[in-house]
Amino acid sequence: MKSFLFPEFQVFRDENLCDQCRGCERQCAFGTHRYDETQDRMISDDFKCAGCQRCVIFCPKGAITIRPTPSSYRPNANWSREKIEDLKRQAETGGVILTGCGNDKPFRIYWDHIVLNASQVTNPSIDPLREPMELRTFLGSKPDFIDLKVDGDHVDIDTRIGPNLMIEAPILFSAMSYGAISYNAFNALARAACSSGTFFNTGEGGLPREMREEFGRCAIVQVASGRFGIDAEYLNCAAAVEIKVGQGAKPGIGGHLPGEKVSQSVASTRMIPAGADAISPAPHHDIYSIEDLSMLIHALKEATNYEKPISVKIAAVHNFAAIASGIVRAGADIIAIDGLRGGTGAAPKAIRDNVGIPIELAISSLDRRLRDEGIRNRCSIIAAGGTRCSADVIKAIALGADAVYIGTAALVAMGCNLCQKCYTGKCNWGICTQDPRLSGRLNTDIAAMRLSNLLAAWSHEIKEMLGGMGINALESLRGNRDHLRGVGLYEWELDVLGIKGAGE
Ligand code: SF4
Ligand code: SF4
Repeated sequence: MKSFLFPEFQVFRDENLCDQCRGCERQCAFGTHRYDETQDRMISDDFKCAGCQRCVIFCPKGAITIRPTPSSYRPNANWSREKIEDLKRQAETGGVILTGCGNDKPFRIYWDHIVLNASQVTNPSIDPLREPMELRTFLGSKPDFIDLKVDGDHVDIDTRIGPNLMIEAPILFSAMSYGAISYNAFNALARAACSSGTFFNTGEGGLPREMREEFGRCAIVQVASGRFGIDAEYLNCAAAVEIKVGQGAKPGIGGHLPGEKVSQSVASTRMIPAGADAISPAPHHDIYSIEDLSMLIHALKEATNYEKPISVKIAAVHNFAAIASGIVRAGADIIAIDGLRGGTGAAPKAIRDNVGIPIELAISSLDRRLRDEGIRNRCSIIAAGGTRCSADVIKAIALGADAVYIGTAALVAMGCNLCQKCYTGKCNWGICTQDPRLSGRLNTDIAAMRLSNLLAAWSHEIKEMLGGMGINALESLRGNRDHLRGVGLYEWELDVLGIKGAGE
């Protein structure tokens, strides 16, 4: 069938610069470039280009430019180019449109409508280069009160404090499974987490055995509905366990790792046959109530000797705060809440773009709900889905989060250009692929260094912003929404965020 789609991108090659080294042909797994013997020159098939920019960066002559194809359709406010082309695509395939990365629709990005405070005369600002600044954060349940045992001059804490994770800055790497991402990318996240004093999250794909001894101490291992790769050793080698109930990119549905990405190594880590589709059902088949969830939380605590905090990850959807309250009462030590713009390796586009609520609104709702119910101390909140920079992190903390998970930002640090073709398994940057020819392109040491640099840079900036507000410990900012003001927001939005408008 002849396709009626236009190419998404146009490839321009400066013939004066190109020396026909064919490097671009080797770089593009989508087969866009090729050498044409009859014309004795490089030619390109624009229809195949995903816009990943790999050939642009690696052309030794700087001869290539990739640009989005200007729309050829008559302007129509109702029928955008995207709507027309999605419809054509479905008419040609009869299938669900898949995509990768997070929601890219123009929903309001609240981070960009919230501004931070700064100190001036009274309560002066603090110079973070000369004064100690505390970003260290503990994630887990905190007791309602602390009993002290005094014996002469010796004072001891007489209250049992449950297991907590200690992180040097309020940033962790979000769940990205081995299988969805390459071994090298997975390994780089683990290395960067260990060297930066934070944690990576295995996602639902298990933790390769050879990584457990070295990186288990920096791992949060997931228990998802597919139960891939889970045994007692997996649970006990890690620092924390996370039950994945929902995900911001695809709330309410399960996961699907196509058989082509299930290599021998991915298969043995997940404990499934190589080449078989890894399908996670939408629900956990043993969880149909908060009581069921509570049983799983306590089973995992029992299995790990009550030595590891148990996190529950849910997607931010309507009424999620009530659900989260139940989850805390069910015994979770950490709630990870994933918003509308959370990333993914593969999701149906209709779900990714239309289900969920922005994380900024979710953080504030959840923090206030748990405070109102007097149970905020019983769990920590990790916010995920759409954190792009250090300012987003500090705003998330002021809205009420204890820390943030970063996923897409970590991928970008490693080289991702958000082409959204993760689900094809042909990631030219070696990140979202199991093809050894492509995954070998990602140098683990360099990727880990880029990730560590990102965390270091954001930590410096967070200290600068804290100092500017006259605060020397992140703890003092948590849920302190008085340090925030909204710009260009409706009254209902300010109400949900729990902040005043600028000038008030
Ligand atoms: S990589 Fe650059 S120089 Fe080499 S063939 Fe492609 S366009 Fe030409
Ligand atoms: S998909 Fe990437 S590597 Fe291939 S032509 Fe397009 S920009 Fe270049």
